Amino acid sequence: MTKNHYDVIIIGTGPAGITAALYGVRLGLKVVVFGDIPGGNTYMIESLENYPGFPGGISGTRFGVQAFQQAQQEGAVFTMIRLSQFSQEKEQFIGIDAAKQKYTSGTAIVATGRIPKRLSVPNANVKGVHFCSLCDGPLYRGRNATLAVIGSDNGAGQHARTLARIADKVLLVSRNKEFQMDAALSKGIKALNNITLLPGREVIDYKGNEAIEAIVLEGREGDKKTIAVDGVFLAVGWRTNTKMLHLPVEASTAGYLKTDGKLMTSCPGLFAAGDVRETDMYQVLTACADGARAAKYCAEFLEKKNIG
Ligand SMILES: Cc1cc2nc3c(=O)[nH]c(=O)nc-3n(C[C@H](O)[C@H](O)[C@H](O)COP(=O)(O)OP(=O)(O)OC[C@H]3O[C@@H](n4cnc5c(N)ncnc54)[C@H](O)[C@@H]3O)c2cc1C
Repeated sequence: MTKNHYDVIIIGTGPAGITAALYGVRLGLKVVVFGDIPGGNTYMIESLENYPGFPGGISGTRFGVQAFQQAQQEGAVFTMIRLSQFSQEKEQFIGIDAAKQKYTSGTAIVATGRIPKRLSVPNANVKGVHFCSLCDGPLYRGRNATLAVIGSDNGAGQHARTLARIADKVLLVSRNKEFQMDAALSKGIKALNNITLLPGREVIDYKGNEAIEAIVLEGREGDKKTIAVDGVFLAVGWRTNTKMLHLPVEASTAGYLKTDGKLMTSCPGLFAAGDVRETDMYQVLTACADGARAAKYCAEFLEKKNIG
């Protein structure tokens, strides 16, 4: 075996990958983790309030970095580089990183999460369209801005709540007739008098040459309206990060990896954890739980293979 041979290759440094690494090393496995952002998407969470142990919440960035440091202290190897290709040959997994370095392993965990989708409108790439209110919201501070959030779920609601502290006015636009956020968030949003809810309207284009100046909305009856905005924040769905996988693995039509009860994909020895997996909840807590369980089942898989 080469020096770059590991028991487990973990792809992704979000909550799922970090927890898998933490549990993996504590189970005595030789673990290597690929990814570039410590904490993955947690940097987009202004205040993580639904993870037990942090009354009053904790900044997502702080949570992610501390979790990362914890796994590092336990002995997990973090390469801080992405994997550009991942394949399998004779029951051995092969990862090639962005610097063309080769790694091999007996098992692997895909914990690469998902990224937000864009709207497919004619002027889709105009400047001023964002995905992270926490990261880009401050650009509009002190500008008497009107900002539009497009989407209807908890992610959209959280963006609107964050932006309401920065902008003069926030429009929360959804093509659905009803918003689909949890009751506590919905109540909080309705209590903020600078958020206007616009359900049942689809954004069909952005106006603006250099930067966005307005959004064009179409109602359910086909009625159109242009509203001036200074920026747009999108929360309209996700695309899973699975491009690097060069091996046959079953996925849902939306691209989520299918797993069995032990988080193993259709490819023996390959596990999936967190937001990249087809599941019913996409949260930090569930990603962490997936990571822990995937590490345990990697150990089990290797043990059976060595005995067999
Ligand atoms: C705005 C916003 C607010 C949210 N608020 C909350 C909240 O309040 N509470 C809550 O519980 N959850 C919240 N979430 C959801 C939460 O962030 C996710 O459920 C969680 O981060 C999923 O963890 P993960 O490890 O599966 O994936 P991610 O956190 O997405 O991490 C995956 C990592 O893998 C990396 N990666 C991708 N491809 C490769 C590759 N080829 N090689 C190496 N690495 C790769 C990615 O760059 C990323 O860093 C929120 C999400 C958003 C966007």
